[in-house]
Amino acid sequence: MARFTLPRDLYFGPDAMNELSCLKGCKKAIIVTGGHSMQKFGFLDKLENILHEAGLETKLFEGVEPDPSVETVYRGAQAMRDFEPDVIVAIGGGSPIDAAKAMWVFYEYPEKTFDDIKEPFTMPKLRRKAIFVAIPSTSGTATEVTAFSVITDYKTLIKYPLADFEITPDIAILDSNIPLTMPKALTADTGMDALTHAIEAYVAALHSPISDALALKAIQMVYENLVASVEGNVEARGRMHIAQCMAGMAFSNALLGICHSLAHKTGAQFDIPHGRCNAILLPYVIEYNATACRHRIADIAHALGLPGATTRQLVNSLVDAIKNLNKKLGIKQTYRENGVSEEEYLKVADFIAENAVADPCTGSNPRETDVESMRKVLDCAYYGKDVEF
Ligand code: FE
Repeated sequence: MARFTLPRDLYFGPDAMNELSCLKGCKKAIIVTGGHSMQKFGFLDKLENILHEAGLETKLFEGVEPDPSVETVYRGAQAMRDFEPDVIVAIGGGSPIDAAKAMWVFYEYPEKTFDDIKEPFTMPKLRRKAIFVAIPSTSGTATEVTAFSVITDYKTLIKYPLADFEITPDIAILDSNIPLTMPKALTADTGMDALTHAIEAYVAALHSPISDALALKAIQMVYENLVASVEGNVEARGRMHIAQCMAGMAFSNALLGICHSLAHKTGAQFDIPHGRCNAILLPYVIEYNATACRHRIADIAHALGLPGATTRQLVNSLVDAIKNLNKKLGIKQTYRENGVSEEEYLKVADFIAENAVADPCTGSNPRETDVESMRKVLDCAYYGKDVEF
């Protein structure tokens, strides 16, 4: 038996936020957001107005930091217990939405702690007190449709990657006006994150015909629209917002692979944005995985209309196409070119490889890995060399 879980409703397109009038009949909404960008661009006022017009009382919980902390989550849960909302609306980048998902759990179950819910798929039933609406401002993480949330305990330096279909939102609003405010580099990095989600989901051990369809279409849409989106084309940016969401639907159910395992550890170690780490690693991870799933990688190359008469040629074409895409986006292809010195790299390379093997994304990778092969892939992504795996 397999399961596929998504939000019940997606509203998408320009001004999709207006559709929140569908919440008529609910009483109270708590709005969870990050810094000031949603306020600055007027989206917060707009959101509050729509909710007020629908007859809801609102309360604001703002200031969720990037990589949200355990403390912020507990504070937000307390604010929810004081206000007693029947709707939680999270608006902003991945961080406020991730934080609000965890707040939701502790709002409904005040006696629980992170230790009680850290094991995947052990969360209690939610939606007894509130439903969850997510409005993303960036086009990459797709947390508005996924079963995941990452919260950091800064005292113990432990990251809790929470995973359970209970925290998959009920409503996702993909208002294409909002990501228009993203700066160029963020658009490029988050777009490559989305492409990696779709490619890893397509070859992941748990892929299904349902996730395959979403992943392949997402790959095509990112490939066709990302460069134009970064250059500021409004329609392309809107299509990217939908493509990243489809990639999210695929990977929330099919899971990811070692490109993400390595991106998690290198991102933290070298302070390079998550999406850019994926952009650097993806061509080398595809080469590594090709031994285990070259037909599926060839499917992707076919879907993009890339040249090649054999599966091996198609794999090479896809690797080249991703490197070319990076070039067009201004993303340098190796960690070395991204400013990591060799001394710094060699000091932590084994540590990264060991930790990447233990990452939750490693289990669903199509090819088995150990520390030695993880280190090999990492060396390729540092030096930019092609290695026979
Ligand atoms: Fe990602």
